[in-house]
Amino acid sequence: MQENIKRVARTKGGCGCAIAVLVVFLGALGFVGYKFVLPWWNKQPPPASGKEPLRVHVLDVGQGDSILIISPEGKTVLVDAGDEKSGKKVVEALKAQGVQQLDYFIATHTHPDHIGGAAAVFSNFKVGTVLHNDYPPPEAIVKDEVAPAAGKSGGRKQAAPPPRSAAKKGKGSELPTVKAYNSFESAVASAREQAGTKFERADPDRTIDDLGGGMRLTILAPIPPLFTKEKIAASRKGNESNANSIVVRLDYGEFSMLLTGDAEEQTEERLVQKETNLAATILKVGHHGSRYATSENFLKRVFRQGDAQSKAAIISMGEFNRYGHPNSDVLNRLKAAGVKQIYRTDLQGEITILTTGKVKDGKLYEIKAAKETKSDVWAGREGEKNDSSSSGFITYGDYGPPPKQRKK
Ligand SMILES: [Zn+2]
Repeated sequence: MQENIKRVARTKGGCGCAIAVLVVFLGALGFVGYKFVLPWWNKQPPPASGKEPLRVHVLDVGQGDSILIISPEGKTVLVDAGDEKSGKKVVEALKAQGVQQLDYFIATHTHPDHIGGAAAVFSNFKVGTVLHNDYPPPEAIVKDEVAPAAGKSGGRKQAAPPPRSAAKKGKGSELPTVKAYNSFESAVASAREQAGTKFERADPDRTIDDLGGGMRLTILAPIPPLFTKEKIAASRKGNESNANSIVVRLDYGEFSMLLTGDAEEQTEERLVQKETNLAATILKVGHHGSRYATSENFLKRVFRQGDAQSKAAIISMGEFNRYGHPNSDVLNRLKAAGVKQIYRTDLQGEITILTTGKVKDGKLYEIKAAKETKSDVWAGREGEKNDSSSSGFITYGDYGPPPKQRKK
């Protein structure tokens, strides 16, 4: 009897071992398939769609970005808040859409045309979580020339507390970047204190799927180590704050959208190298249509050839902006990538997208512009010699109209 039990145990042990080997083998096979055989766009299935529409409002905030996402279950995400002047307009737009609180506020980066209006938003709405890109405050960048925290962020372990304002009141606070940052920082600090708002670093591959209705947000960038001022200066393209923008993708059923902040070619290249799923139905064009963003390589991955659904691109920018946005080369690249429709907030005001995530009557989504334009949306500008401020030809935050002689 004892012998029998031993034999049974041995047999069971052998069987367990075989199963373990099989599991490991199948696991390895699965991993190989996942990593090398499956096309990159098949790696993560899209979330299921529902009956209720998802709404995306690309608000008209002049030269800047502010994008409101309302999930099928009414949860809300605001990506950027325009510049200080636009704060009130953003608040009104949110109220007009029935927004009562924000579940997430994503500050793509700390330039004034993205966070300048945040204080107004925070004083009108409770915000659940603020996501930031962990790039140091602007004064530190100006003062030290090199971004100190960027080099250290390779071993990013836990969410950093809100960076302490290094900007001294007085001379330093005159810089638009510093002023906007300080205002954002104190808005976040009081929201944390009074409303328990969370302040978290946006780590790549983080997904946000607690917004209901099957909608999912995925953080794609910044990918550490963050771009430093030195690295960007060496490339002579763009600027480091833009390059460290938070890039996020939105998925709902068959619909997807990329929100790229002011990310430029360096960031796009990292995303392409990382085999990130970039395929999207709609692209919010990076950096207001700057020539340094929206590269051909990137577009090849965003707009795959042969997809039945028409592709669209949205550019958020101010009319007659002094940067020469949108650059005509960017518009040509979009056209070459198969984009059929282009929408521009400078000519058409707020752009609204509605989708149930499913194709209905041959359409995956509806897109509406607040106003009609007689101008050619495909007509770009030559742009300034440097439309991305990398050589400091203009101080960031100077978003007024261009000098008269440049006005067309
Ligand atoms: Zn911007």
